[in-house]
Amino acid sequence: MRLLHGRPLAEKVNARTRERVALLAARAVRPLLAIVSAGIDPAASTYQERLVRSGKHLGIDVRVDALPSGTSEVTLAEHLRALGEDRAVHGILLLAPLPAPLDDAALVDVIAPAKDVEGVHPYNVGLLKAGRPRFVPSTAEAILELLKFHGIPLRGTKAVVIGRSPVVGRPAAALLLNADATVTVAHSKTPDVTALTRAAAIVVVAVGRERFLTGEMLSPGATVIDAGINVTPAGIVGDVDVESVSSVAGALSPVPGGLGAVTTALLLRNVVSAAEEQSRA
Ligand code: NAP
Repeated sequence: MRLLHGRPLAEKVNARTRERVALLAARAVRPLLAIVSAGIDPAASTYQERLVRSGKHLGIDVRVDALPSGTSEVTLAEHLRALGEDRAVHGILLLAPLPAPLDDAALVDVIAPAKDVEGVHPYNVGLLKAGRPRFVPSTAEAILELLKFHGIPLRGTKAVVIGRSPVVGRPAAALLLNADATVTVAHSKTPDVTALTRAAAIVVVAVGRERFLTGEMLSPGATVIDAGINVTPAGIVGDVDVESVSSVAGALSPVPGGLGAVTTALLLRNVVSAAEEQSRA
């Protein structure tokens, strides 16, 4: 079984980002991403730390606006609106999941679409659905870019995406459809997920449960993309039962080492795209 490593792709994306950052610097523009959080989620804070670190290497400022847990929806919305109007800020990332009772779905509506580098505002979601993607959730884009980078055929293939969240499952399914795959989306109410995955050449799993996808759920030679990030006492693991899947699948994206670095690289590239657009305006 082949491992679909993400690092070489992330390096390629980052190299191009560095060139674009240098062009912006020549015009005295330094891209700035504002990450807005309200409370701590372990997987989300790992992502945040990675963005800050990579931003430093690429010449992109990443500022963390950590609002205290207990912040009201109204205060968060006001903060997001103010960032939308702040000309120094090019990208806005609302770190999800937000602690209850805050409603991610209501708050994304407030993010300025031109600064919505994570592609969660309904305007950007609609463009993706219409087959004209602009800003796309970076984990979903990383899934597609990793498949393409490793030469996995997409056109005409059967793909199953397990999970339908707005940030992973749904946009990954839309991107696969845009790439001419025949796509089925499974979720917690799907009666027989195995019947679907056994018929698929590509399986994307974004459930958030360790060892969810096992070898017996796959057809021989299938390509598996593992989007899971589960924090366990043994470290970070994905949604795949690696032992059983390894003996059946043809290719698998490892966790860690698969989507993570690509996701970060694409998100920061989006910040540069936003800075380019806004500095032209
Ligand atoms: P999520 O919002 O909790 O969504 C999980 C999805 O899995 C839901 O659509 C759920 O179905 C489905 N599901 C749960 N149990 C299932 C079952 N038994 N059979 C089939 N489907 C089932 O999670 P997420 O944000 O998409 O994240 C998924 C994983 O990817 C997590 O490990 C997360 O850490 C990781 N990840 C998240 C992000 C991010 O930006 N959020 C980025 C990268 C990776 P229902 O819709 O019916 O509930």
